[in-house]
Amino acid sequence: MRKPIIGGNWKMNKTARDAVQVVQDLRKRIGGVEGVEVVVFPPFTVLGPVEKVLKGTSIGLGAQNMYWETEGPYTGEISAPMLVDLGCRYVILGHSERRQYFGETDDGINRKIKSALTFGLTPVVCVGETLKQREEGSFKRIVESQLELCLKDIDSQGADRIVIAYEPVWAIGTGLTASPQHAEEMHSLVRKLLAKVFGKDLADSIRVQYGGSAKPENIGELMREPDIDGALVGGASLDASSFAKIVKYEE
Ligand code: PEP
Repeated sequence: MRKPIIGGNWKMNKTARDAVQVVQDLRKRIGGVEGVEVVVFPPFTVLGPVEKVLKGTSIGLGAQNMYWETEGPYTGEISAPMLVDLGCRYVILGHSERRQYFGETDDGINRKIKSALTFGLTPVVCVGETLKQREEGSFKRIVESQLELCLKDIDSQGADRIVIAYEPVWAIGTGLTASPQHAEEMHSLVRKLLAKVFGKDLADSIRVQYGGSAKPENIGELMREPDIDGALVGGASLDASSFAKIVKYEE
């Protein structure tokens, strides 16, 4: 049985005061939630204050990116051990906004995954096609290639910690959501590809989240699909009430 995992990706939003308010609110609403793993991914600048509020709750902390080197002359970058030191247990890698605006490549994401695993972080690895790729019909090939390259030479030891986020780029921040059927088709494809890389047993234990305008109104129908093991939520995670509703999707 795969434990569902719901993540809130705050992107470049919230200064310390707002961030602390949101997690204090989340703490009250879902601080002791069971049966689902909950993670918030605030910007680097507020990881410290957010960690203090989340301490002792069942809500995990993650970062939105990291660099693959451990330390050294890499101005502006942050490494896996630095995130661990701040109390992070998760890190989003290869988000489409990083691929699109900051030139991230599958090769770089692959290096980051290896470093994250070495330092005990759970990488949330994002894959997904653009609207153009979807319309051209190349979307399955694109997701297959992203996964193959991102997961290249990754030891199956510890790989069960990896979480994949299937996020069709056309659904991110647009209000458009993949239908549960379309999402399930892609999630089951992702699982088949994972089985090719890691074998069936490991593939069956890896969580595959859906991302793309997930909200309280659509989370239930998405979560009913057999290969959808949670959601990576952007916009709707900025507000404690809507994020808590997503986390408690069964109620
Ligand atoms: C995301 O940023 O990963 C995301 C899915 O955003 P949104 O929920 O706003 O579409």
